[in-house]
Amino acid sequence: MENVTRREFLGLGAAGALGFDLTKAAQFKQNLLIEGATVSHSVCPYCAVGCSLLAYTKKAANGHVELLQIEGDPDSPVNEGTLCPKGASSLQLAVSRRRVPNPLYRAPGATTWTRVSWDFTLDKLARNIKESRDRTFVTQDANGNVVNRCEGIAFAGGAAFSSEEGYLATKLMRGLGVVHLEQQARV
Ligand code: SF4
Repeated sequence: MENVTRREFLGLGAAGALGFDLTKAAQFKQNLLIEGATVSHSVCPYCAVGCSLLAYTKKAANGHVELLQIEGDPDSPVNEGTLCPKGASSLQLAVSRRRVPNPLYRAPGATTWTRVSWDFTLDKLARNIKESRDRTFVTQDANGNVVNRCEGIAFAGGAAFSSEEGYLATKLMRGLGVVHLEQQARV
């Protein structure tokens, strides 16, 4: 190895000073998938730990915004850049070809699923909630006390809920008289 000063050694970087060819490493860096991508902060939706994520997106040639990568946020005091295997696979939530992108409905007694519209799904959910509420609404308890509660529906919020979403969901459920409320963060 040629003689280099300590300052030159540091300027070149240890690998370069020791004679390693860094061309390939430099090319690799230039060709990173996420180069020039927009970074957005998010939260893993899977469990109550609530690990912070960084999501990298970039506009493709066809004008569509593509999600390129999701990884742990190193600045998060919760997970310090790490993710468990579930969180590390969260990219697949958005891009997996095996993901079901449309609602499917299996009618009572049917053995197969049918692809349905979102309008059908939302109407069906609203109808089922109303029917369940009407059927299970309790106005008085066994001692004659007025309780006005719905005992036939339970609600569980997700760990990715913001405070505002949690507030809204609680308001909606309390408005329906639902008393069985839970949050994944407590599970
Ligand atoms: S990365 Fe794992 S531990 Fe963290 S929130 Fe997601 S599922 Fe939970």
